[in-house]
Amino acid sequence: MSQPDATAEFVVLGGGISGLSLAWRLAARHPGQVVLLEREPQVGGLAAGIPWHGIPLDLGSHRIHTGFEPGALRTIEQLLAGDLRTRKRRGRILVNSRFLPYPPSLATIGSSFGVRQSLVFCKDFLRARMGKWRNGRDQARFEGYLRDQVGDSLYEFFYRPYAEKLWALPASQISFEPAVARLHRVRRLGPQPNRGFFHYPKGGMGQLAEALRTRITDLGGTVLTGAEATDLSSDEGGVRVVARLAGEDSARTVRAGTCISTLPLRATWRLAGMGAEPLPLRWRSLRVAYLLYAAPLRGDIDTYYFPDPRLRIGRVSSIHRFSPELPEPANRILTIEIPCSQSEDLWTMSDQDLSQIVHHELKATGVMDAGAGDPVEVRTVGLRDVYPVYELGWRECWAAALDRLARVDHLFLAGRAALFLHCNIDHCMTMAQRLATLVEGPLAREKWRAEINGFPFLKLKE
Ligand SMILES: Cc1cc2nc3c(=O)[nH]c(=O)nc-3n(C[C@H](O)[C@H](O)[C@H](O)COP(=O)(O)OP(=O)(O)OC[C@H]3O[C@@H](n4cnc5c(N)ncnc54)[C@H](O)[C@@H]3O)c2cc1C
Repeated sequence: MSQPDATAEFVVLGGGISGLSLAWRLAARHPGQVVLLEREPQVGGLAAGIPWHGIPLDLGSHRIHTGFEPGALRTIEQLLAGDLRTRKRRGRILVNSRFLPYPPSLATIGSSFGVRQSLVFCKDFLRARMGKWRNGRDQARFEGYLRDQVGDSLYEFFYRPYAEKLWALPASQISFEPAVARLHRVRRLGPQPNRGFFHYPKGGMGQLAEALRTRITDLGGTVLTGAEATDLSSDEGGVRVVARLAGEDSARTVRAGTCISTLPLRATWRLAGMGAEPLPLRWRSLRVAYLLYAAPLRGDIDTYYFPDPRLRIGRVSSIHRFSPELPEPANRILTIEIPCSQSEDLWTMSDQDLSQIVHHELKATGVMDAGAGDPVEVRTVGLRDVYPVYELGWRECWAAALDRLARVDHLFLAGRAALFLHCNIDHCMTMAQRLATLVEGPLAREKWRAEINGFPFLKLKE
């Protein structure tokens, strides 16, 4: 076997928040002994900043929620020093043809829907909670679980359309785990400190990834961007990763004692030589459109949510409302998220065609004035496989896939993409910190595998 181009104690695959957090934690214990490989020219993965007209655009609305795990929030504050801003949330969700404040609470739902409908919500909710009407509903399904938790009418208005739009499946075919991960949002009735606020780096979400990269390199770690991992093999002594570097003819190899992959599960599957075996898990993708208008956007709403499956737009946000310190033309850009599958026209149509559909829906829903002129420029980005589809039976397939990968010695999986999770940045950071302490101890792989089983229930913040 040829000599490796680099050796290290750890090689980390993927430079999203999970990979960067891991590399940082490991480099702190093993200065100079960590190599991170990231395929894209920039670090950050889903939380990267993509420059357009000098603005570091987020890949869809990204913010740091006040409900983040306290340890992760403290770390973010330290990483961003004085650049983390706190802003009031000004969100709206379109439900049954009316805009409600977002995130919704039972109190705001009540005041928006009027006395009659509110009584129906309350009656259904209490019936569900008292458990009297559990007619043998299947608690292992999204639908049965939620109907029994929040009642039929709240389920029909809020949860069902959202789920069917995001996953493009009848809610009766979705498993219960994502219901558990989302339920905390309407459970709370009383005042919740900080619930109406969020944090955001003044220079865009990509600032967090850049701060992590700096920490790693300050500790002597290596961060290679434009470096796509193409092969992974292991033996008794460790792992060998082959990477193709942008602009270089020959591949490079890294030899390390331990490999932690934060790459999408499908990518790790292929890399480890299992590409011939089908991976029986499905994801939904997301197309993100950025519309640049001639005039500054009006109003002060930062984010609109559209759970209605009849609308193509899912979430619309204004990066300028997240950080008014961003320069022109941030105040003229809208970011629109369109959940879709790669087999749909929405995924393949031209930027111009997509922008016409989106602009029309923005006007029809009242986000833009009826007389608003067309956008002057559009850019779109396709994010493959960002939403795991938790259809019935997914858990058995998932466990089988993880067990199969567990046969690759010295390999650990971590992060949202690698573990088929729909989770937040704080979960990725917490996961990384935990794995970095576990990885060198006894029975590390067995312990980590056991912890992974609880991750599908992580509480989602949106
Ligand atoms: C639209 C959207 C909005 C979101 N909003 C929020 C929010 O407001 N707040 C919040 O907390 N979370 C939010 N999230 C979730 C958050 O973005 C993720 O939890 C987090 O960024 C995941 O990080 P990760 O490192 O696990 O995965 P990723 O970011 O997916 O990182 C995986 C990395 O692997 C790289 N890679 C892939 N293949 C290869 C290869 N062969 N070789 C080398 N590198 C490779 C990729 O380029 C990528 O950088 C949002 C997610 C989405 C999709």
